Amino acid sequence: MADSQNQEVREIRINPIIPSESVLVATARSMRPKKAEDLAPRDTRKHVDTCPFCTGNEDKTPPAIATYPPTGEWRIRIVENLYPVLGDDRSEANLSFGLQQTIDGYGRHEVMIDHNEHGIAVQDMSQAHLHNLFGAYRERMQQLYDSDPRLKYVLVFKNFGPAAGASIPHTHSQIIAMPVVPENLQAEVENSRAFYNKHHQCIFCSLINEALTFEATIYDRESGKIHRKIHVGQFVIERGRKFIAIKPFASRFEWEVHILPLTHQSDFGAISDDDLDDLAGVVRRTMARLEAVIGGAQYNYFLHSVPHDGTHEENAPSFHWHLEICPRTSIPTGFELGSGIYVNTVKPEEAAEKLRNAVID
Ligand SMILES: [Zn+2]
Ligand SMILES: [Zn+2]
Ligand SMILES: [Zn+2]
Repeated sequence: MADSQNQEVREIRINPIIPSESVLVATARSMRPKKAEDLAPRDTRKHVDTCPFCTGNEDKTPPAIATYPPTGEWRIRIVENLYPVLGDDRSEANLSFGLQQTIDGYGRHEVMIDHNEHGIAVQDMSQAHLHNLFGAYRERMQQLYDSDPRLKYVLVFKNFGPAAGASIPHTHSQIIAMPVVPENLQAEVENSRAFYNKHHQCIFCSLINEALTFEATIYDRESGKIHRKIHVGQFVIERGRKFIAIKPFASRFEWEVHILPLTHQSDFGAISDDDLDDLAGVVRRTMARLEAVIGGAQYNYFLHSVPHDGTHEENAPSFHWHLEICPRTSIPTGFELGSGIYVNTVKPEEAAEKLRNAVID
């Protein structure tokens, strides 16, 4: 165990991928209010008669774009979002005035009903089902990119629980295809390319290598005695044959975890069926660890994959797709909104240790 473990810290950590983003790790717990919704019991019912996403109520949503399996009783179902944030082309051109510049809100917004069981949590889904769910993400992302070259980024994300912004309790994901690359993703793409140009390696691969280095010893230059031992591998919380779950050193959220392929891959769309299986296992076990440690986790997760905006090939060696899981255990305060600095009240190494040591089946 590292010597600095379990003691109060107050330090600003720089996100190695987006250096402009920093996190204040401050274990004084009064820094952030806890979310009241944390205590709300999760809706674990299997079927709710009035739920538009439950089996039997298919007429309450727009018709299915796809179902899995394609025939018979569905387990996963994709429909148009009834309240899209982006929609079809508008016939009128945008009016831009002075500093009020706009980009057409053209795009697609779809809902993926993740499971036919209303209140099932990800960690309770079978590995085979999660394989199909992530396979459905892969397929729909590809179809959307193929459908219209103006779509530059397809964002797949999931809000789970009211604290994470889920308005319908039935488990679901969302797919938003947009005509611009979101700024935070663009920052990851550009910074990882700059790192690659300088060091000739992918920064995500470097972070994985660092995470898998169990221990580093720093010797005193003069005496040659051990100056400090750093336990680097303390950020790994779960791994499979092909995937690893890591607690980021500069985690923005207390229980944030990222899942990445161990072998370099820029585009989630290129994931093989065999790899999907391993990913499903790592996702399920990671969510089970979060459930065991923080219980009833409300979270957002989202996929960051290389954008299809014409730079796809160029960014292939430097960008590495990943799934970011961000449990919401506190609400941002004026400090965070005003400074852009995230406040994390749990030291990431300690959070990682708790998650790694959690007993799961
Ligand atoms: Zn339902
Ligand atoms: Zn890589
Ligand atoms: Zn990312």
